[in-house]
Amino acid sequence: MAGNATGGASTYDAIIIGAGHNGLVTACYLARAKWKVLVLERRHVIGGACVTEEDVPGFPPGYKVSTAAYVNSLFRPQIIRELRLADYGFALLERNPSSFSPFPDGRYLMLGPDAALNHREISKFSARDADNYPKYEAMLARVAQVVEPTIGMIPPDVLKPGLGDIWKLMKLSSTGVFQMLVATASWTALMPIVAGFGEVAIAGYVIALRVVMFALLPALGLSNAAATMVGQNLGAGKPERSESAVWKAGLFNFAFYFFVGLILWLFSNQIIGIFTQEAEVLKYGTSALHIIAYGFAFYGPGMVLETAFNGAGDTWTPTYLNLIIFWLVEIPLAYLLAYYFEMGPDGVFWAITVAFSLLAISSGLLFRRGKWKSKMV
Ligand SMILES: Cc1cc2nc3c(=O)[nH]c(=O)nc-3n(C[C@H](O)[C@H](O)[C@H](O)COP(=O)(O)OP(=O)(O)OC[C@H]3O[C@@H](n4cnc5c(N)ncnc54)[C@H](O)[C@@H]3O)c2cc1C
Repeated sequence: MAGNATGGASTYDAIIIGAGHNGLVTACYLARAKWKVLVLERRHVIGGACVTEEDVPGFPPGYKVSTAAYVNSLFRPQIIRELRLADYGFALLERNPSSFSPFPDGRYLMLGPDAALNHREISKFSARDADNYPKYEAMLARVAQVVEPTIGMIPPDVLKPGLGDIWKLMKLSSTGVFQMLVATASWTALMPIVAGFGEVAIAGYVIALRVVMFALLPALGLSNAAATMVGQNLGAGKPERSESAVWKAGLFNFAFYFFVGLILWLFSNQIIGIFTQEAEVLKYGTSALHIIAYGFAFYGPGMVLETAFNGAGDTWTPTYLNLIIFWLVEIPLAYLLAYYFEMGPDGVFWAITVAFSLLAISSGLLFRRGKWKSKMV
């Protein structure tokens, strides 16, 4: 309860009803932020359901009983760190065994970190369940990996976003939009250079471009997945997991697109032939696809690495990269190769190959430097 409240002679910035662990944690954070806080608890003991009590009805005197919460599962490590709870005696004890469930007929189920013991114990009730238990645990671990990073996040108010939320979204998306614009506009800027060699050259170039974009669609999906992993794990304070997800996705894309590039390189004529029967268009299209295929192994990982920066909220690094590589390298190089070195449209196709490969390499180098890890969104 925020605001200004009076309790007797004193004035408080916040009064918290109930000294369960949520109330206590909230009170500590408010006090840290210099608020004057009053916590009211109706029981003789604080801690709510997380408390361990003595002399509980039904238990012999002297027994200590954890009345409800006994597993320190969802208590965020960040809270333990920020409130310096260890300095006040907080300690985490490993549960071993983790649970003991007695049954009225005298049987019991004891579980713990020992997989062999768990299998023996569950087998007493069901051999099939015992065999399946590791799969169940693995499933839980996978679910936790997705859900856990979201626990500490402040959910956006989608029904009534505040001005701050809207501004943040606009700031984030505007760089992303600009980034896309820089990249896609460069493809269009190459058109006039190719157009100098006639309409057939343009037609061949456009067909090859469509094939390339289609072939790169799976890389786009994987890049977005990797970017999500980066955002989630950074949010959970685990940058090393973000990094490993990106390198894994990049490596997978490298192997996959090496193979795709080989197919495009070997069968460029047949592939372009599906879309046109005109000999001149086929010639230019084939040449474009053949040359662009040389760098294919780089394009997939390049996309993953570039998108990973976006996932970390660092939208400017890929924008600068796009600006430098597409506009300062690719377009002048295309013009030089096509006209000055008289390579014709092939010069443009080589410039595309060089630019995209360069983009992948420079993204990789910048990603390895790791400045994105310290980006605050
Ligand atoms: C059986 C059981 C087992 C659980 N096991 C686990 C577990 O193993 N691990 C885990 O992480 N979580 C577990 N939980 C969940 C966990 O206990 C709760 O999420 C947690 O205790 C909630 O904390 P809280 O501060 O919100 O509320 P509570 O812990 O319920 O605290 C609320 C406090 O407010 C006080 N209060 C209520 N009304 C008033 C009033 N009008 N005036 C003054 N004081 C008031 C109460 O006396 C109490 O002290 C378990 C819960 C239950 C019920």
